[in-house]
Amino acid sequence: MNFINQVLATIQGEGKFIGTPTLLVRVQGCNARCKFCDTKEALRYPEINESEIDVSRLVQDIYDKFGAFKLINLLITGGEPTIYFKYNFFAKFIEELFDKFDFRSMEIETNGAGCIFSDNIPFFENLFGLPLVFNISPKVEFKNEADNDPIIVVNNINFLISNCISFTLKILNYPPILNKSKVILSQIKNRNFPIYIMPLTPYTKNNEIDYEGFRKNCMDTIKFCLKTGYLFSPRTHIWIFGEDKNEGNQAPIIGHK
Ligand code: SF4
Repeated sequence: MNFINQVLATIQGEGKFIGTPTLLVRVQGCNARCKFCDTKEALRYPEINESEIDVSRLVQDIYDKFGAFKLINLLITGGEPTIYFKYNFFAKFIEELFDKFDFRSMEIETNGAGCIFSDNIPFFENLFGLPLVFNISPKVEFKNEADNDPIIVVNNINFLISNCISFTLKILNYPPILNKSKVILSQIKNRNFPIYIMPLTPYTKNNEIDYEGFRKNCMDTIKFCLKTGYLFSPRTHIWIFGEDKNEGNQAPIIGHK
């Protein structure tokens, strides 16, 4: 359980599955340290002892709380979910969630760095056949600077392409990230995947969302998309739920409150 920061029923607010009723599972621990991170409570790495994790009980607990909702998408986010790919319990956790719920899709959100997917083939073999989509959102500030190397993301993308695993790129409209993404894209031959550009969320001095600034960032991002042909993703959850970390959820929340 200590690998989970939060579980809730909500809608996906951005990207390919925007508006879809979703079971959001936020895992604990991240290799990045983004200045703009809005889930800082999920950054600390937990100590993992696989033998202490009772996956079936955890999945049943989640189903007891959220089974009454018609949730058709599973979203694994963080933190950084790929740090768990090396553990057997993680694929089992996802498989058992699929057995209980009526999901039609599953998204894994990742910064695409620090985890070479090809090192984790057993994870993919276990989940073979599930409707899996990776959303790769490159970042530039990491605990270990070596993780900032664009080639890591390029290698991960090439692994997904060569194994026919669906993915999207979700790029924040923030100059250092745009620059890194440009380098990544310049090294990928097959560009036949959706690329979304997303506005950054600005904060006031009191650490509240600056909605006027956010609207301006949306407008700037739309202008950028009109010039480049990339897709605009509005991040609707920021407008609708704002500071509410529980995203208007009607069920008891698991984890962070
Ligand atoms: S990758 Fe995501 S969770 Fe990790 S520090 Fe950056 S914004 Fe936060």
